[in-house]
Amino acid sequence: MKTVKSNFKFKGGVHPDYNKELARDKAIETMPVPAELVVSMSQHLGAPAKCLVKVGDFVKRGQLIGEKNGFISVCVRAPADGKVVAVEKRLGPAGGKADAVIIDTTAKEDSPDASSPTPPLPHSSTAVLPPLDWKAASKEDLLKRVEEAGICGMGGAGFPTAVKLNPPPGKRCEYLVLNGAECEPYLTADYRVMLERAPRIRLGVEIMRKILGMPAVRIAIEANKPEAIAAMEKAFADIEGNVEIVVLPVLYPQGSEKHQIFATVGRIVPEPPALPIDVGCVVENIGTVAAIADAVELGEPLLARVTTVSGDAVVEPKNVLAPSGTKYADLVKFCGGEKEPPAKIISGGTMMGFAVSTLDIATTKTTSGLLVLSSRRVFQYGSQACINCGRCVRACPMNLNAAEIAKAVEADDVKAAEDLHVMTCIECGACSFSCPAYRPITQFCRRAKNSIRARIAAEKAKAAAAAKK
Ligand code: SF4
Ligand code: SF4
Repeated sequence: MKTVKSNFKFKGGVHPDYNKELARDKAIETMPVPAELVVSMSQHLGAPAKCLVKVGDFVKRGQLIGEKNGFISVCVRAPADGKVVAVEKRLGPAGGKADAVIIDTTAKEDSPDASSPTPPLPHSSTAVLPPLDWKAASKEDLLKRVEEAGICGMGGAGFPTAVKLNPPPGKRCEYLVLNGAECEPYLTADYRVMLERAPRIRLGVEIMRKILGMPAVRIAIEANKPEAIAAMEKAFADIEGNVEIVVLPVLYPQGSEKHQIFATVGRIVPEPPALPIDVGCVVENIGTVAAIADAVELGEPLLARVTTVSGDAVVEPKNVLAPSGTKYADLVKFCGGEKEPPAKIISGGTMMGFAVSTLDIATTKTTSGLLVLSSRRVFQYGSQACINCGRCVRACPMNLNAAEIAKAVEADDVKAAEDLHVMTCIECGACSFSCPAYRPITQFCRRAKNSIRARIAAEKAKAAAAAKK
């Protein structure tokens, strides 16, 4: 194992205020199970899980409550014991509504052998699934474990991990890239996991290497995290094979999957629908890798995750290990409450996160951050006409003409935006961040992409219906 500096710098990118000092030195704290959990059936990319429980059911921690519902889907397990008090649509962190199971964790089952209503959180001694000996287990057994543990990418996109770790015929993973960049402002959850759980990450890497046929490993960490680099160097010191820690320049959006691949192995992922595996790479977030180790060695499904709760309007910013389905209001309360009424609440980081209007939203497997910001941190502005300065074009890490895309969408010409390759936009926000006219360029891109996806889905449905006739 060796540590090297990245030889590849991508075009564009920006340097936002990182504000990580608020939470970076706060060790991960485990939050008690809140009285109510709101467990979404749609915590991942792809088809929502099929709900298996109904109002009045008692569920046990780790019990399957949502069944994987398609190839691109992930199962959902109960994060704690409790009684199902509702199954209804609830607002999610990204704004849309999805079916959710509401669990009252204080309810006691009318049975003499009922378990504690406040069960232990993950990393306790209670195994939900039988622990596996990863060295003796087959690739198929390990993949099955990742699937039944309900693991999806925890960096934000939520892609089903078992699908990612099983490349289609004809494709081979040559490089496993670990994403430890965490370039989003304020967020320090992955940083703390690298500091505090580096041996778990190493175990996760060894399991993934076995599943993927022993690819080379590249661990990507930005240069502004020397303590995390040191922790990973120590944990991986005696690992065998082609393993490198790649120190990346500090530049947003260094944590984007495509830019990680370029920065670590110098390969370029072509336009969608091409995927990293098309250039021989699989990228996984640091937290996901640790979750794989827990699922295999401890029999612990993905029931909780570390979320950074930060911002100047929260009393004590922290990195909190909380069950999936914890309401934002409970997270903020665990961090001492609000210092003052927030001017803005953001699910995720300030660059790619979603502004939400209420704390009555619950975390999912992909919730990396919750920001509570005062009016001093929120700049009020009105969008103006484009002055053709070109800053957004220079900032775009995907080489897009962001200004022209925005103008096309503003004029309701989605076809023109498509011709300008809007589908390659990674919604990083670098263009909007750079724009002196405060134009919501990223939102224009998102709108065009949603419209194009809806059109493609409608065309596919029409073709399928015609084929049936
Ligand atoms: S949001 Fe899209 S258009 Fe804007 S900089 Fe990022 S990739 Fe480019
Ligand atoms: S940065 Fe803003 S004003 Fe400048 S070209 Fe882009 S959209 Fe126009």
